Amino acid sequence: MSDCVFCTIDKKRIIFKDELFFVIRDIYPVTNLHTLIIPNRHIVSFFDLIEDEKRKLNQIIEEQRTLLLSEDISITGFNIGVNDGEDAGQTVMHCHIHLIPRRKGDVKNPRGGVRGVIPEMQGY
Ligand code: 5GP
Ligand code: ZN
Repeated sequence: MSDCVFCTIDKKRIIFKDELFFVIRDIYPVTNLHTLIIPNRHIVSFFDLIEDEKRKLNQIIEEQRTLLLSEDISITGFNIGVNDGEDAGQTVMHCHIHLIPRRKGDVKNPRGGVRGVIPEMQGY
């Protein structure tokens, strides 16, 4: 797709690639080393992934986690997320999985994590 930012990504930004996925650092990172795992195929939704891709995705998430932990000893947790659909906040319409490193004290009160997609419902 010639008008897709991920299909036309600058190759220099790619930190890992195999036959199904590539990995980049987010250009507007939520935290340092915020990572995106992206299928090579231009599909919009996480739910368009086929079984082989889902299996490989799990493997890559684990590998990237291990790499991040070895690269930065301050990382003490992760948020893993997908904005699936415009109403869920998706802005780049090429499926991607966010792997967001978290560090003790990076926010005052981390309780609720991804519940923060609806900010007033994060705390409970
Ligand atoms: P989402 O669709 O998940 O809501 O947001 C798109 C994500 O892609 C954002 O976190 C944004 O920072 C990230 N991103 C990484 N590289 C690029 C890029 O080259 N262009 C744009 N527009 N977003 C990028
Ligand atoms: Zn694309």
